[in-house]
Amino acid sequence: LHLRDGAIWLDGRHVAWPEARRHVLSHGLHYGTAAFEGVRVYDGRPFKLREHCERLAYSCRTVGIALPYGVDQLVAEIEAYAEACRFGDAYIRPIAWRGADALGIVGRSGDCHLAVAGWEWSGTHPDAAEAGLSLGLGPWRRPAPTMWPLQAKLSGLYAIGSMNTAAARAEGFDDALVCAPDGEHVAELTGANIFFVRDGGLVTPPADSALDGLTRQEIVALASALSIRVEIAKVPLAGVAAFDGAFATGTAYEVVPVGRIGAHRYDLGSRDLRRVLGPLRDAYRERTRGRMSSPGCSAASRASF
Ligand code: PMP
Repeated sequence: LHLRDGAIWLDGRHVAWPEARRHVLSHGLHYGTAAFEGVRVYDGRPFKLREHCERLAYSCRTVGIALPYGVDQLVAEIEAYAEACRFGDAYIRPIAWRGADALGIVGRSGDCHLAVAGWEWSGTHPDAAEAGLSLGLGPWRRPAPTMWPLQAKLSGLYAIGSMNTAAARAEGFDDALVCAPDGEHVAELTGANIFFVRDGGLVTPPADSALDGLTRQEIVALASALSIRVEIAKVPLAGVAAFDGAFATGTAYEVVPVGRIGAHRYDLGSRDLRRVLGPLRDAYRERTRGRMSSPGCSAASRASF
């Protein structure tokens, strides 16, 4: 990955991919004091870039990264970077972290870096669109909101995601279903939210133990525009088999069906699932690739920060 062609935006300059280096004593590396985003570019246009930049700014404030850029400037820099790279469909990874000025746990305020790297990319799980994602139960739960600022995308938390995914893959699953702190309810996936389908409506776990993802918010708004009922409710692990189906949502995942949770297989051809999932996927695709404007999720997304 580090030997690709192309440029990475690093602390205000475009540098060649292999030259994008910083010091091994960086605070962010030692203590996980880094914040990141994943942004999709569709047909040359970064999708929901402002919302991602707002979340990045919020995450940075949470972990004491004093970014020298405001949201407007972040948006402008990332747009300029995407344009300079002439991206068609791409993934962009902005990341901010605390630097190597002081290695004490408290670090030094104002010592921070920002990088923006991107590459051509157009989907996470191309096979899952047909077969559905298979999910194994992750061995590590999400922390409670009193234990970690869960709406911030802080790198440190992703150690849990990485261990959960590795454990699920070792058992032959695509990804992990991660439980809420009580160990009895569903929270989300390691990098996506989850929705369950029942009787023509949706049920999604509350965002108190999950990231309130931008795609989750978009799906809630699209569902309401399509008159699909959405219930935000706790989903017991023991109850997942009672649903007609499930799907995952996220910037990288987009909207993908879940084919299996543990030993339970959902019928992806079921009419009950398709009549809800089909229109939502079409509407999401229209949002990302078409010209349709958001049916009103931005206010909600801002409210959560
Ligand atoms: N949960 C977690 C833990 C994530 O990392 C992501 C990806 N950002 C999501 C959910 C989905 O969020 P979004 O729709 O904003 O990409």
